[in-house]
Amino acid sequence: MQKKIPMRMCVGCREMKPKRELVRVVCNKEGEVFVDPTGKANGRGAYVCRSGDCLKKAVKTRALERAFSMKIGEDVFESLNASIAGIPAEADEGGGEA
Ligand SMILES: [Zn+2]
Repeated sequence: MQKKIPMRMCVGCREMKPKRELVRVVCNKEGEVFVDPTGKANGRGAYVCRSGDCLKKAVKTRALERAFSMKIGEDVFESLNASIAGIPAEADEGGGEA
């Protein structure tokens, strides 16, 4: 049996990663941008690694703004930050004790 892993590009580091390792941000028809923890919300999606660094990069380069061609509110970044912080990364880089 072959399992196909869906890959998506992180807007921060621009690397292709398995979808489940990324946080999905959605822009729906109403033009609302929000974090989509289920990955099932309708709309255009953009993905960021579950990494503060990638989020920072995405903010700095306005990658999300460009992905959706619209301004992203501060609250979106806040909830992104929260979901990244709240999800224990399946880190294989070791360390990371707060
Ligand atoms: Zn990344």
